Amino acid sequence: MRFVAGAATDVGRVREGNEDAFVVDDRLRLFAVADGMGGHRAGEVASATAVEALRASVAAGSPVDDAIRAANAAVLEKSDADTDLAGMGTTMTAVVSPGDGDAVIGHVGDSRAYLLHEGELSQLTDDHSLVEELVREGRLTSEQAEVHPQRSIITRALGIESDVDVDRYTVPAVVGDRVLLCSDGLTTMVRADDIASILRREPHPGHAAEQLVDAANEAGGEDNITVVVLDAVEGEAGGDSDAIAAAGAAAAASGDAEAPDGTDEPDASDAESSDHKPEKRRGRTRRWWRTLLVAVPVVVIIVVAVLIVGWYARRTYFVAFAGDNEQVVLYQGRPGGVLGWDPTLEITTDLTADDLTPAQRIAFEDELEFSSRSAAEEYLEGVADDVAAAEEDATSTTTSPPTTRSLTTSPPTTA
Ligand code: CA
Repeated sequence: MRFVAGAATDVGRVREGNEDAFVVDDRLRLFAVADGMGGHRAGEVASATAVEALRASVAAGSPVDDAIRAANAAVLEKSDADTDLAGMGTTMTAVVSPGDGDAVIGHVGDSRAYLLHEGELSQLTDDHSLVEELVREGRLTSEQAEVHPQRSIITRALGIESDVDVDRYTVPAVVGDRVLLCSDGLTTMVRADDIASILRREPHPGHAAEQLVDAANEAGGEDNITVVVLDAVEGEAGGDSDAIAAAGAAAAASGDAEAPDGTDEPDASDAESSDHKPEKRRGRTRRWWRTLLVAVPVVVIIVVAVLIVGWYARRTYFVAFAGDNEQVVLYQGRPGGVLGWDPTLEITTDLTADDLTPAQRIAFEDELEFSSRSAAEEYLEGVADDVAAAEEDATSTTTSPPTTRSLTTSPPTTA
């Protein structure tokens, strides 16, 4: 069994910075959420330092609980060395899935791990928070805890003391199960039932993570929200966690919105960078770019095709009879039109079908085409001259004045 991950993080609607961090590392089979705290952005430093140290320690072969102790030492060292960072801390909920044994969770603080098994959501971790301790002691109900004003006070964190008590759980996940890691920005905003229904409804782990973040924001988004969704699948080889999370992290880390191709093969650079501090909605930005990259060429192709058809449809002229009195006219376009490009009336004459010779009449009935406007005008003028000459012949024996015929140009109108 191995995990395929999707992740999303967001600053929320109230906070100015995102002090959460997460890890999606297929190579190490390590996934984690950290929720930093401390003034003046120290929380960001705390969570980033912790996930970095966690990764290094797991990469060096440590079990997850030892790696969390190493993360604690790293945060503490940094806060001791810099007065601006004094007192900073972070939660850490991490899962390592070795593939050849049970996946293990290490946990400190009030971020959470849940298991969705056969549609039922259960919380795997206990919160190290004041209200949860009061609940465990029977002094608060869990309903009271949900709305308690001090529900964000945590009783255990990394970076506070040199010794930290790390809870360790074995994940009872089997293929088909889903594990959720999240910061309290999700669980204080969205009820467990609603979390469960999103996890049941959305099969794609990356999309499920995004929808959970959206739900927390719709409920007010009072805190940073970070979600990692892990799908337990067959197989031992890692490496195809959701590209949205991995690719988005790479883009955020390098400040480069271009980046991966969206295939399911994140490389080491994806994994290397996925524990960097997220500044904004990675998945959302990523998908937006991907949509744009597809949409722009499609729009260009459509516009070019329309222009080519238009050019083809409009490049010729033809003569015809128009109206009940069969007036002699010139159109621009193709007889009958082409794919919505209808011919337009360019010239209306005061000649009618009755004025023409039988041969000329056939040309108009056949809607004779010309490759240029000047060729068409020349033809019409020839016809007008012929008609005038014929009339002159007919009237030369009478006293009637010669009739003059001329071309009049009407403003273009749709035929
Ligand atoms: Ca938080």
